[in-house]
Amino acid sequence: MREHVRANAADRPGIYRMVAEGGEVVYVGKSKRLRTRLLSYFRASYPEEKGARIVREASAIEWEYVPSEFAALLAEMRAIKRFRPRLNVAMKRDARHFAFIKLTAGAAPKLLAVRGPSGDDSALYYGPFHGARRLEESLRELSDVLALRDCRLTQRVVYADQEELFAGPARTPGCIRLEIGRCLGPCAGACTAAAYAERVRLARAFLDGESDGPLETLRAEMDAAADRLEFERAASLRDKLARLEALREQFDRLRFAVESLSFVYRVPGVDGDDRVYLIRRGRVRGECAAPRTRSERRALTSLTRHVFASAEPRGARVPTHEIDELMLLSSWFRAHPGELTHTRAPRIR
Ligand code: SF4
Repeated sequence: MREHVRANAADRPGIYRMVAEGGEVVYVGKSKRLRTRLLSYFRASYPEEKGARIVREASAIEWEYVPSEFAALLAEMRAIKRFRPRLNVAMKRDARHFAFIKLTAGAAPKLLAVRGPSGDDSALYYGPFHGARRLEESLRELSDVLALRDCRLTQRVVYADQEELFAGPARTPGCIRLEIGRCLGPCAGACTAAAYAERVRLARAFLDGESDGPLETLRAEMDAAADRLEFERAASLRDKLARLEALREQFDRLRFAVESLSFVYRVPGVDGDDRVYLIRRGRVRGECAAPRTRSERRALTSLTRHVFASAEPRGARVPTHEIDELMLLSSWFRAHPGELTHTRAPRIR
């Protein structure tokens, strides 16, 4: 493999695949200088070093050149998604410190703080956020205010308007949250499917930044407790309110960050292979060679219109399959703020 690299690899941006006997892609990587990077794998001093381990598992190296470091970053992410190489997963240095809000699918959705998408595409994800523990606390408040369930996903759901319930009295699950009014009780026939769905709708409206309903509910409860001279309860509600307000602020900042990652980005490439990326809400929605002729410019204008003219939700909701790309683009522009000078607002008229 070393001789193959020495004889054939050039020092330009690209991605590479380490392939095991039998064709399994065990590792995917990228580099601004492919040749230098690949040769470094053969200089590992200790067998436990990452490079040595990868080379031990591989029997061949394949690579492709791309026009720029940015293109290499995107190509690597897409290749990892496609091949799911086991050594990339094992050595993942990714953003495990980030957390997402997951609104599960199913008969009675619930809110969860998770480290990343689970491949359950029917769930909704919001984020990323810093601080999983703080996020968990805020979600507990939100679930309490809206009386959403927080029990295990396998909990049986029986709504009040389900026919089988007419045969007998509603069952009690022995859950304290139902007893103290912190859950509508979709496990115990204590609410209708429509009532629960309405609370889920309110949660989504809050997460999408369209409603402050949960904050107003807490504020009203706090004022009422203070009027009744229940100062301890009022203080506890004030703390809950502060946690939810902090979550709302985090959302506002996130929405701003996502919205500000919307532009046309021109990236100079090796040997004049410049590319244009149409980035909307932190994801690459279109890409083409930088136009040189009038007809190529017209084609770019039409692609830009297509990408930017359609309506999109403005919240912090991110489709599962786009989370990695959002994280990658935001860290790229954070690490290379000078790149923003190569961006411009889309012209769609
Ligand atoms: S009341 Fe039922 S649905 Fe609600 S949290 Fe408790 S067990 Fe879950």
